[in-house]
Formats: sequence, C-alpha cells, structure tokens
Amino acid sequence: MALGECNCGAVSYEVDAALTDVFLCHCSICRKSTGSGGIAVALVNRAAFRFLTGEESIVKWTKPNHDWHTYFCKICGSALPGENDATQMYIPVGTLSSGYESLRVAHHLFTNSKAHWEVIGDTGIQHPNGYE
Ligand SMILES: [Zn+2]
Ligand SMILES: [Zn+2]
Repeated sequence: MALGECNCGAVSYEVDAALTDVFLCHCSICRKSTGSGGIAVALVNRAAFRFLTGEESIVKWTKPNHDWHTYFCKICGSALPGENDATQMYIPVGTLSSGYESLRVAHHLFTNSKAHWEVIGDTGIQHPNGYE
C-alpha cells in the first residue's frame, strides 16, 4: 500500500501494490514539463489505483501532434498520476508520501536526449530512444 498527494494536498491517492521499479524519462518533453532532468514514474495496474480526494482539481494537457500527456494539480501545479495505457496508471514517484521504500531506478528512457549536465550514476538499464 502506498499513499501520495500533491504539494497543496488537494489531490490524494492510494495504490494497493508494491512499488519497486522507477522509470526515469529524460526526453525533452518531460524535461520541459518538470523544468528538470526529466520525470520519474512507477507503473501500476489501474485496478490497484484510486484517487481519494481532489479529482476535480486535476488538469490534463496533451501535447499536440505527440503521443504524450500530463496531469497536474490546477492549484499547486504538482505532477499527478494518470493513465499510461488501457491497463496501467503511471505515478510520478515524487508525489508519494509513503510506500516508496523499495523503489529503485530500473530504466532510463530517452538517454540520447538527456540534459548534458545530468550524469547517470545508477545501474538502471539505459534505453537511448525510449522503452523498446
Ligand atoms: Zn495541489
Ligand atoms: Zn519523456
């Protein structure tokens, strides 16, 4: 069981699954979205995820002409969980408040476009052009 919420606390959620693998995306879109080196997410089955509060405060933005979208809190701007595909949710792991103790970076995505100042120092598998 894991719990998470945004910075202002309006949106909160729970995950009924063990979270272990972090996927770190270094692509240029994720870097602009976060203003940082990219975004770190965990993936869970939809059935294991549910919002507890604040779904009405969630904004979805889809980048035109790209297969990419993001969810964020309209009050504080924190990244939030959303659907990854038909069966999975992605969870920005920085929003977790508990249940994250076993997380380790398992995969680095789009390392070909990572920021030049970012140095990868863990054993996560590097995927130059995304997850294949
Ligand atoms: Zn918020
Ligand atoms: Zn990305």
